[in-house]
Amino acid sequence: MKSILITGGAGFIGSHVVRRFVQNYPNYHVYNLDALTYAGNLENIKDIENESNYTFLKGDIVDEVFINEIFEKYQFEGVLHLAAESHVDRSITDPLAFVKTNIIGTVNLLNAFKKLWKDNFDGKRFYHISTDEVYGSLGETGLFTETTPYDPNSPYSASKASSDHFVRAYGETYGLPYVLTNCSNNYGPFHFPEKLIPLFINNIINKKPLPVYGDGNYTRDWLFVKDHAVAIDLVFHKGKNHETYNIGGFNEWKNIDLVRLLCEKMDEKLGRPEGESAKLITFVKDRPGHDLRYAIDASKINAELGWKPSVTFEEGLKQTIDWYLDNTQWLNNITSGEYAKYYEKQY
Ligand code: NAD
Repeated sequence: MKSILITGGAGFIGSHVVRRFVQNYPNYHVYNLDALTYAGNLENIKDIENESNYTFLKGDIVDEVFINEIFEKYQFEGVLHLAAESHVDRSITDPLAFVKTNIIGTVNLLNAFKKLWKDNFDGKRFYHISTDEVYGSLGETGLFTETTPYDPNSPYSASKASSDHFVRAYGETYGLPYVLTNCSNNYGPFHFPEKLIPLFINNIINKKPLPVYGDGNYTRDWLFVKDHAVAIDLVFHKGKNHETYNIGGFNEWKNIDLVRLLCEKMDEKLGRPEGESAKLITFVKDRPGHDLRYAIDASKINAELGWKPSVTFEEGLKQTIDWYLDNTQWLNNITSGEYAKYYEKQY
């Protein structure tokens, strides 16, 4: 049985990747390593916790001794690294936490992997999951390709850019077999409600203001999280060593248009009069260093690995809204307590 490490598997995207790997690959033993920060939640993977090919490991990737111990003990042949501090706003108030987890944590994993397999990298793979935010901001036109120069603007994207560079450098310097992907904004079930789509779904349910940064004209590309998990599966198994692939939804939205669409769909779903939720839209002071537009050219992964999104935005958004309305307890557990205090300070 092949021993696979997935980091950050109690988070949003990681939980979908862990579930997919546990269910689709009975010949793998999947170890899910997660520190269970505010963003980690074992409820996200409750349905697979008793599977015989699954083990949860609670631990911090910044802890070098612990990381070396588990690599030695479980002999991970494949690593899918998703653990990260992931929220841009938090990176503005506490950049050092992002340096620790996203940079030092990644280097700890690279070192442990190298130490374990340096005499025989054959059949081994280190997969680093990253973001399109490393490329900085686009103007009104153009797309990020795999060769777009890095130009990060937030402490979050700077820390992810740095971790990407370390992964590539370990490939060049030590021959470490890596693959790397940079993906656009994900949405879907189990998304922590500090992020735009779940935050606004929750606020609409509770008739709370919908805080839109600046003039709302920031543009993002959105991808349904399960389609990202399919792409990750494909790149892990079929991607070429030392290659980067961009992953995107071919689905650009200005924030304000997306918020209006969400309001419309939620009004329909909740049986509220047309236009009621849109009255909650409130423009708030802009985020410093806010990137105007991100958009991905995902033609390489399409041409080389045959991947493209399977779900339309209409369908993905419907599934997402339905999931949040069916899982209000999950939402309430998160939005009470510590997160409520954090949220009050933000807006
Ligand atoms: P998330 O914040 O929902 O989950 C991150 C997980 O990592 C949490 O379970 C958390 O407990 C864990 N974690 C944090 N610090 C840790 C540490 N020091 N040690 C061990 N575990 C730790 O994030 P996400 O949205 O699921 O993103 C996953 C990865 O995908 C990240 O690397 C992120 O940069 C990347 N990414 C995210 C998006 C997106 O839209 N969410 C898009 C592209 C790339």
